[in-house]
Amino acid sequence: MTASATKSRAAIGLFGGTFDPVHYGHLRAALEARETLGLDDFRLLPAGTPALRTFTGASAPHRLAMLQLAVEAYPGFSVDDREIRRPGKSYMVDTLREIRRESGDKPLILVIGQDAANDLDQWFEWRTLFSLAHLAIMRRPESRIGWKGELRKIIERRLTGEVGQLHECPAGRVLPLAVTQLAISATGIRKQFSAGRSPRFLLPDPVIEYIRKNALYFAAQAPKG
Ligand code: ATP
Repeated sequence: MTASATKSRAAIGLFGGTFDPVHYGHLRAALEARETLGLDDFRLLPAGTPALRTFTGASAPHRLAMLQLAVEAYPGFSVDDREIRRPGKSYMVDTLREIRRESGDKPLILVIGQDAANDLDQWFEWRTLFSLAHLAIMRRPESRIGWKGELRKIIERRLTGEVGQLHECPAGRVLPLAVTQLAISATGIRKQFSAGRSPRFLLPDPVIEYIRKNALYFAAQAPKG
């Protein structure tokens, strides 16, 4: 085994989200990110109380259960439920601090979509994120690169096109990551459920069955407007 392969095994991928519900846009992007980044340890992290949202369609335990159903057949992913177990708002900086304490100086790679990256300067203690993890930023249909001001300067200084650089140090680089563009969103899926339309083929069947069995996302739970 080469030294670089050993290093690549040591890095940890982290994909956070509301997963309300999890869908194939998340899962396909996560799989491609895991492969491109060369990671054995790839964790999906559902937010307990998302810091930047006032609304979730399903409760945290339901969102966690759906995510577990979606990935149980795929050994490449694990679900890390620490944000759901932790009381209070789910701040990524707290999560990264915890994982950093547990993992020493292993590279941590936080995988996020471009839409989330554009708003990174609204995240709690956002500047600290760069000292705790690398960022891998995925293009998403209809999302454009939109960082401004200080965020833009910080990101541009840290940009790299080489995956290998993320395996050479614990944190601090930013990598644009090409993934298949699937125009699937949880918002769209919630709307389909509340309108009585079929969302089949946008998310795994066991998740659809779980939503129906627990009557999630029907008109009473749907967002207004
Ligand atoms: P909502 O429609 O409720 O805002 P969402 O579909 O954007 O939800 P999130 O749980 O908010 O899902 O997303 C978690 C992460 O996954 C974010 O970084 C987001 O950019 C990314 N993501 C979501 N959908 C896709 C997709 N279709 N392709 C690539 N990345 C995606």
